[in-house]
Amino acid sequence: MKFIPYGRQDIDQIDEQTVLDTLRSDFLTQGPKVAEFEQALCNYTGARYCVAVASGTAALHLAVAALELPEGSEGITSTNTFTASANSMVYCGVKPVFADIDSRSYNIDPRSILEHITAQTRLVTAVHFAGQTANMAAIASLAQEHGLRVIEDAAHAIGSNYPDGSKVGNCKYSDLTIFSFHPVKTMTTGEGGAVMTNDADLYQRMLLLRSHGISKDPSRMSRNPGPWYYEMQALGWHYRLTDMQAALGLSQLSKIESFKARRREIVANYNAVFGQNPLITIPHEEMAASSCFHLYVLKLNFEQLGKSRVDVMQQLVECGIGSQVHYIPVHTQPWYQDNFSTRQGDCPIAEEYYQSCLSLPLYSSMSDDDQRRVISAVNEIVKCPS
Ligand SMILES: *Cc1c(COP(=O)(O)O)cnc(C)c1O
Repeated sequence: MKFIPYGRQDIDQIDEQTVLDTLRSDFLTQGPKVAEFEQALCNYTGARYCVAVASGTAALHLAVAALELPEGSEGITSTNTFTASANSMVYCGVKPVFADIDSRSYNIDPRSILEHITAQTRLVTAVHFAGQTANMAAIASLAQEHGLRVIEDAAHAIGSNYPDGSKVGNCKYSDLTIFSFHPVKTMTTGEGGAVMTNDADLYQRMLLLRSHGISKDPSRMSRNPGPWYYEMQALGWHYRLTDMQAALGLSQLSKIESFKARRREIVANYNAVFGQNPLITIPHEEMAASSCFHLYVLKLNFEQLGKSRVDVMQQLVECGIGSQVHYIPVHTQPWYQDNFSTRQGDCPIAEEYYQSCLSLPLYSSMSDDDQRRVISAVNEIVKCPS
């Protein structure tokens, strides 16, 4: 029996051929394909600039670093996210502060952001959970009022739209937006990420920091003793993407609308069935047709079901089906409790949500038969005890 994971890549022969062509070309590391991929991401999202990097985490790190926030700054992010959204602040000496979520969208709640703003707050990193955009209009207006910078962690949301219809990544509501191209995300480069911005200064700083803080552009160097010369102007990192990865990214990006359509079709099929089950809360989409669903998250009433989440996950595995929990609230992680004194109880809505959530398989390469298998297994496992 084939195992159905909760997420996986969607790779076809065109993807394979384009990577092979690049492998046979002159450039393996960052070269013309990276530049082409960055331009394609700008064209797709509408942002002015793009810096492609080695991972979504590297993208978050460069984004926070480029802001050059003063010593002692605090940043607010959602506790319902992958740890990297907060870790990227810590890398840059910014103290992460965790806001609670909205109980229907599972996205950061602007009211909770407001409650956590102090005189030291300089940054908000909003996460578009499962593909649905956070309330960016409210967040942008809070940011304006309190003089905060805004990063969008759009690791889940390439292909999604804001309620105004424009594309995530255009940075209309933020200084910077990051994407991840990890294989479980909507499109992949194996590992990879990108930062979008409309700010020329942030863009130049990120170009420098992506490659050791070294400039090779004579017009940007303090002196030019000869053709060998390069100049280290900041302490950067090695966060470059390879040309093979960028070639794969270009090919994947060209299919993003069909990936989105297939993901939405799978979600609609699930919702039609699970919406009838009194033990299940299906995802709430705030704005029709806007989300490029990265995750399909259900809330289950385990108490009424008379089974634990461990039981349900185990029974799904016995049917050859993977599931996952998104996310363990970051403020409850031991490292954050030890280093930033965060505590259980800090974000009650996210903690309650965490007790009942479960993500079912969702990826564009999932077949109708696979989905039928998942639906019948869930119907069997999650039913009212009679
Ligand atoms: C996947 C993910 C990241 C990190 O991306 P990587 O490419 O794995 O480094 C960051 N934030 C969120 C919300 C993610 O889901």
